[in-house]
Amino acid sequence: MSKTRLAELEAELEQRTRELVATQAQLHSLIERNADAIVVVDEQGICQFVNPAAERLFRRRADALLGSALGLPLVVGETTDIDIVGEGSGVAEMRVVETIWQGAPALLAVIRDITDRKRAEQEREQLFLEQTARAQAEEALRERDDFLALASHELKTPVATLSATAQLLHRQIERQGSLDPDQQRRALERLHEQSRRLSILVEHLLDVSQINSGKLSVTRLRADLCALVSDVVTARQLTATHHRLVVRGPEHLEIDVDPVRVGQILTNLIDNAVKYSPDGGAIEIELHCDEASGTARISVRDHGIGIPLERRSRLFERFYRAHADGHVSGMGLGLFITHHLVELHGGDIEADSPADGGARFTVSLPLHTA
Ligand code: ADP
Repeated sequence: MSKTRLAELEAELEQRTRELVATQAQLHSLIERNADAIVVVDEQGICQFVNPAAERLFRRRADALLGSALGLPLVVGETTDIDIVGEGSGVAEMRVVETIWQGAPALLAVIRDITDRKRAEQEREQLFLEQTARAQAEEALRERDDFLALASHELKTPVATLSATAQLLHRQIERQGSLDPDQQRRALERLHEQSRRLSILVEHLLDVSQINSGKLSVTRLRADLCALVSDVVTARQLTATHHRLVVRGPEHLEIDVDPVRVGQILTNLIDNAVKYSPDGGAIEIELHCDEASGTARISVRDHGIGIPLERRSRLFERFYRAHADGHVSGMGLGLFITHHLVELHGGDIEADSPADGGARFTVSLPLHTA
């Protein structure tokens, strides 16, 4: 090899060496200044390298860390959250990859102090929880106020009618000395209907408060569902003078239920059928025994205004009214209570609108098992 060529190669080697040293210095500076802690651990878990950020994070000097076990679970390829213990404790995020250190396999852990980020996240979460709790409390207050307004409005009408009817009776008796049978019948019907309305309202309020406090319960007895239906229908037909209540089904159907509560379920459904079919007509109550599924089914069907499909899913919610146009009075509690009572019996209730109009509610209750 010529002298000139040798000199060229030497110069090139020097140049490469300078470049290499410069790159190493850059890399060193990058690692030294990196805000993330960088730790190299050998196969025995012993610390071989730490940068200044690692000293700050572990609150220990490099000479105390090097040569000792890191004491952290190092899982290659995974990002784990670790607790920083000691003074000013916090949280860090650690990512581990495989590397070669001084010719031997080792692990490189990059650890980022995320204490501030976590704290900010927790503060945001806390703020969100507080805002949600405040919104819920405000909503509950609004709901309570709306409910009080609605309940007082609903109670006012029958009370006013009762008092007006009593005054009218009083005046008529004073004027005429007595009442003719027709006047007597009309007045009694009005008194009966309004006092019935009043007692149902009060009953609903009591039931809702029991449901809210988890105290509503049922006492099951062996009962004949057909007899129960017949009693409710006979009583209700007396005041539902514009409607014809028709019952179809078997003569007897034994079930284990709370007879008072099942009476209430039927009354609620029949009352609604009457209320939401203002033009009168037939209200069909059908009983069916389904031995295969072990259930007794009762459906109450009217030919009234029906329920639009998109509103059916919310029918059993507290206070929900599917026809909130104010024409028909109500508090939106009857179906909520009914649903709850059916569930307490281990049964099921659903609503549909038959193709030829009106609404149908179907209740399934478990049959009596010997
Ligand atoms: P309320 O009748 O006091 O409003 P309910 O809880 O008994 O409360 O019923 C909830 C809503 O379901 C009613 O407001 C009404 O819109 C609808 N609904 C219940 N029964 C019927 C029915 N037979 N036909 C049409 N709509 C009904």
